[in-house]
Amino acid sequence: MFALTPEQQDIRKAAREFAEGEIRPIARELDEREELDPAIWKKAAELGFLAVFVPEEYGGAGYGFLEEALIIEEFARVDTGVAQSLQASYFGSQLLLLYGTEEQKKRYLPAVCRGEMRMGVAITEPDAGSDVASISTRAERRGDHYVISGHEIFITNATVADFLIVACVTNPEAPKKHERLSLIIVETSCPGYEATKLKGKLSIRCSDTGEVALKEVVVPKENLLGEEGKGFYYLMEFFNRTRAAVGALGVGTAQGALDKAISHVRQRKQFGRPLAAFDSVQHKIAEMATLVEAARSLVWRAASEIDRGNVDPALIAIAKWYACEVAVRVADEAVQLHGGYGILEEYDVAHYYRDAKVLEIFEGTKEIEKILIARRLLGRY
Ligand SMILES: Cc1cc2nc3c(=O)[nH]c(=O)nc-3n(C[C@H](O)[C@H](O)[C@H](O)COP(=O)(O)OP(=O)(O)OC[C@H]3O[C@@H](n4cnc5c(N)ncnc54)[C@H](O)[C@@H]3O)c2cc1C
Repeated sequence: MFALTPEQQDIRKAAREFAEGEIRPIARELDEREELDPAIWKKAAELGFLAVFVPEEYGGAGYGFLEEALIIEEFARVDTGVAQSLQASYFGSQLLLLYGTEEQKKRYLPAVCRGEMRMGVAITEPDAGSDVASISTRAERRGDHYVISGHEIFITNATVADFLIVACVTNPEAPKKHERLSLIIVETSCPGYEATKLKGKLSIRCSDTGEVALKEVVVPKENLLGEEGKGFYYLMEFFNRTRAAVGALGVGTAQGALDKAISHVRQRKQFGRPLAAFDSVQHKIAEMATLVEAARSLVWRAASEIDRGNVDPALIAIAKWYACEVAVRVADEAVQLHGGYGILEEYDVAHYYRDAKVLEIFEGTKEIEKILIARRLLGRY
């Protein structure tokens, strides 16, 4: 089941070459500048690395979520921030594929795959983070249009996206809280769209994160995605198709930190011997490698089950939580094995350590993932 086909191995190899050749030389500079050079996004698009799960008829490669995971892992092995930025350029394309009209798919997906448009999904608000159903951004229907007002925070690509899929309350009177929401496409060139970049992040600094203010933004009613009142349920299905990819960011980040630790303990001598000669150091490396392999197996399994049409929210949550926690643990051990050098940016492990943390927070905190897993096993309490 886990043997990659020759084509998948080729994809992995090509992604590794891109990461080493194109991402590594500029990753640290982009982190310092806190922005992505659009040239690298364009190049990744040219080489067909973006949204590879999009069918060929909409401009994608027609692969699956496993192939996406293989690519993201290789990118994150070199730099989590650039990997996240490239992945984020098509964050929301999964929603368009699931619920978009033919017209919406044709308008946006080929441009996103070609690197001509960047997108995002705006859900989180200052008072509604994990509790998605409590959002308050309003979309009022006026004739053939929606008029949208609200305030979102932590929105990836807020200041660089061409369009966002925005979660809005369209049915405030619905008897169930979860039936109040709809998803609406908002082009960021619309009057009333304002975005402010959040600077000085701990992690993935080159990935754009911002606040969004929607001030009576008017969009045609055709921008509704799917049906009114189903937005919450659509989002849950969406996360079932994005969380394995976040898990892949975790695996890549952990592998990158492990690589650095291995090379350091081989070179660094104390007490007249390389650190690698000490039993406890060997055990640490063995434990880190085991964690990475276990996380990789889970992510590959979760992604390939989705590709087989078996979307299992608990398995996906297990893979996301575990792989992201592994990234934090392995990066922590990698810093420890570097001793004092570990906290110097030039030794790179500090960078993996900073980047790993956010993976336990976005697209469902690890606590929320555990709630999803437990709910599947125990039912609702
Ligand atoms: C870099 C970055 C990029 C992001 N990109 C996007 C984006 O593109 N679009 C978007 O909409 N959002 C985005 N987010 C927001 C992200 O999804 C939220 O930060 C996340 O869902 C948590 O919400 P919160 O920050 O409001 O934390 P809170 O929900 O306030 O949680 C705080 C803590 O309380 C815990 N907690 C909350 N509820 C429970 C509970 N019921 N039981 C136990 N523990 C609980 C959480 O696990 C967490 O530890 C991004 C965030 C970051 C940091």
